[in-house]
Amino acid sequence: MIKGFPRPMARIIEEFSRMPGIGVRSAERIAFYLLRSPGEYVEALARAIREVKSNVRFCSRCNNLSEHELCSVCSDPSRDASRICVVEGPNGVIAMEKCGIFRGTYHVLLGQLSPIEGIGPEQLKIKELLERVEKEKVKEVVIATDFTTEGETTALYLSEVMKSGKVTVSRLARGVPVGASLEYADVATLQRAFEERRGV
Ligand SMILES: [Zn+2]
Repeated sequence: MIKGFPRPMARIIEEFSRMPGIGVRSAERIAFYLLRSPGEYVEALARAIREVKSNVRFCSRCNNLSEHELCSVCSDPSRDASRICVVEGPNGVIAMEKCGIFRGTYHVLLGQLSPIEGIGPEQLKIKELLERVEKEKVKEVVIATDFTTEGETTALYLSEVMKSGKVTVSRLARGVPVGASLEYADVATLQRAFEERRGV
């Protein structure tokens, strides 16, 4: 419990400090900022927070973030459905779209394999990926998981389970620094890593 503040203040400081990357000191600063802000601003912010929860969902096909049943990539008829780029999270889609080199569709795993944390293949959207590869007559799967230990483990697992199929499986080249998340790679590095992707 945060002491020395009126109850509503203490409550909001407690809530903010639970958010990723925000400690108690930052939470206090945000709480004071809201207190000094005009009522309309705070109302609009509360609405925006509610809308994120009620209007944003996962694309039913690729698990990307979407306002509709299908995300903006999946509902774009100019995208090449025979190629799928596999990423860990929606941030990976954003990073790849920013570099503008990939014209296929995505598949978001919504996580990474982590034996230490007890996250196995069944907790990720891997079964759905294999179903898509089968159903959508996919020719190439580009694995663009992060270059972290968990990302590499995930890439290795995916290449193993797709080995026997007719699909070409490739992995982004090592242009992206070891230990790095896709979202932190700059556009030029990511473009090169994609162009130099190699079969696995
Ligand atoms: Zn989608």
